[in-house]
Amino acid sequence: MIDNAIRGMEFDEYLDTIRRFTDDELIPGEREMVRLGHVPEPLVRRMAELGLFGITLPRGHGGLGWTVEQQVRLTFEFTRASVVYRSRFSTTIGLVSQAVATFGTDVQRERYLTAMANGDCVAAFALTEAAAGTDATAVRTTARRSGDGYVLNGSKRFITNGAWADVLMVFAVTDESNGALSAFLVDRTAPGVTTRLPEQMNGHAEGPIAEIVFDNVRVERDAVLGGTEGSGLRQAMRGINHARTHVAATAVGQAARLLDEASTHATRRHQFGQAIAEFGAVQSMLGRSYAELEAGRALVLDCAREFDLAGPPKERISAAKLYCTEMASEVADRAVQVLGGEGIVGDSPVPRMWRDVRALRIYEGASQLHERNLARALPALLASK
Ligand SMILES: Cc1cc2nc3c(=O)[nH]c(=O)nc-3n(C[C@H](O)[C@H](O)[C@H](O)COP(=O)(O)OP(=O)(O)OC[C@H]3O[C@@H](n4cnc5c(N)ncnc54)[C@H](O)[C@@H]3O)c2cc1C
Repeated sequence: MIDNAIRGMEFDEYLDTIRRFTDDELIPGEREMVRLGHVPEPLVRRMAELGLFGITLPRGHGGLGWTVEQQVRLTFEFTRASVVYRSRFSTTIGLVSQAVATFGTDVQRERYLTAMANGDCVAAFALTEAAAGTDATAVRTTARRSGDGYVLNGSKRFITNGAWADVLMVFAVTDESNGALSAFLVDRTAPGVTTRLPEQMNGHAEGPIAEIVFDNVRVERDAVLGGTEGSGLRQAMRGINHARTHVAATAVGQAARLLDEASTHATRRHQFGQAIAEFGAVQSMLGRSYAELEAGRALVLDCAREFDLAGPPKERISAAKLYCTEMASEVADRAVQVLGGEGIVGDSPVPRMWRDVRALRIYEGASQLHERNLARALPALLASK
């Protein structure tokens, strides 16, 4: 439940609160999270009290009503801490709640949105399957009409929060003649739903992504998002464009922290009688990283402003997501280099973050998908400038 004091704050005061939460609780809590292998529940409750589950939803639906630009500025702050914290609420605030807010029926909005904003209803977005990764149109999970509702069969993989979410937004084929998808809001504890976590994760280790099997799962007719079949892909894209913008901002937050860690190390570590920060080669890595970080930050902010003015700017979002996630990986790689052996051995956050940021180039559209989308749109993009 969001604290009343939080609801009364102007944006700058709220931003400062989240900055302090990041510095005082999230970053110091990383060690304990790594030891436990998951985000501790008391910290999830703190995130909910501070409104992090509600930053994207309008006040009328129980959220804090921040603009996309404000959401992005908040994301720059809390993603200086582990990306896994963000993952704990990202699927609720972005992928799922945005689709419900935009396309849901009045009953669906009433049922889910305030609970999501308060952190009382965690949502997962279940699109990816073994045969349907980058190509979301290859989904094989089916939802066949049966009596007053549907029966779902199939399986999903790589689903963030899939093992502990309260509600799953499941994409399934409702028209097998043309493969048209529909989105369903499914109770994760419904009979026939089973989840399994992987034994190993390469990055995001404290937020393992789930496989979900649907074995003759019965859902009512009113579980179809918006009440009409066949609009699943369009509905998915609403949440995906929002999430891509946030992932770009996440990459900026991660790169800022990595650069801070690398720069601090370079000042403290001495070799050949001087701080390694004095070596031109190290300065080159740090200076270049800063320039790229700030270019990424400016691109995301610009993109967020356009989003607020006229809805999701698809290609600009692709450019921001592509540039910022590749940039964060470069910065992470340089940070490991600056740390030397301590970037490989020991408990510095840098190697953990190096593994974490790698995934940002894969989820919410692999870099190559964005390159392809931008290349295809290039003539129109260039003509519009
Ligand atoms: C940490 C994490 C969290 C995730 N969370 C979720 C979630 O909550 N919900 C969900 O539904 N999914 C989730 N995913 C899945 C994610 O969206 C997919 O991994 C992603 O879409 C890529 O699909 P794939 O892994 O099957 O790779 P593939 O589609 O097999 O692609 C592999 C590679 O092939 C190349 N490639 C593929 N298609 C093209 C193309 N058209 N043009 C050029 N190159 C191409 C790219 O280099 C790509 O990296 C998550 C994944 C990770 C790693």
